[in-house]
Amino acid sequence: MTTQDTCRSCIDCGRKACQKSNESLYPEYCLTKNASKEQLTQTRETYMEEYNNEVMVQTAKIQSKYYEKLTRVEETILFAKEMGAKKIGIATCTALLKESITLAKILRAHGFQVFSACCKVGAIDKREIGIPEQYIKHGPNICNPILQAQILNEEKTDLNIVMGLCVGHDVLFHQYIEGPTTTMVVKDRVTGHNPAAPLYTSHSFYKKLLNEE
Ligand code: SF4
Repeated sequence: MTTQDTCRSCIDCGRKACQKSNESLYPEYCLTKNASKEQLTQTRETYMEEYNNEVMVQTAKIQSKYYEKLTRVEETILFAKEMGAKKIGIATCTALLKESITLAKILRAHGFQVFSACCKVGAIDKREIGIPEQYIKHGPNICNPILQAQILNEEKTDLNIVMGLCVGHDVLFHQYIEGPTTTMVVKDRVTGHNPAAPLYTSHSFYKKLLNEE
């Protein structure tokens, strides 16, 4: 028996029975079925905390009124407005700076104050933080997600938007950012920032990802 056999979860189920509380379809390893009463009670209570509740209510409101009608950009603007955000932070990759400038223009046109920190902020040389020589490619300076987060924290932004931070750098950004943060663009240099593309085509063009003979 492999670890995969003994460690089953939602990705092994695919029944989505939890969507409509269809208990007869819950598998024996079902995470809903096996959640403790205490866990569920604590989760419900946490959603009743003021800020969390506001996020959930506003998200439900947007979904119920505009499902499949608004783009991500429009939904983000609406969410920010409904949450009462005045100042928006943009943590952008320099490669996405053009798109971030456009996003800022749109946000400003909707009355928001916008402040952005790009990933190369601080201009720190890769050698200064011990990046081995053989990995120094695509420019001398590091992406600096920690400083990006600290600057946006100091600016006391009401809502932050991530624009195309690299895999890994985004981990550190999320670790250090203090304010509420949503993602607009995830970087995928190969697919034009559409990481779902290889998933959609894993039965054909991206079959290689499954490591099958
Ligand atoms: S919570 Fe249960 S029913 Fe829902 S996807 Fe996970 S295993 Fe399946």
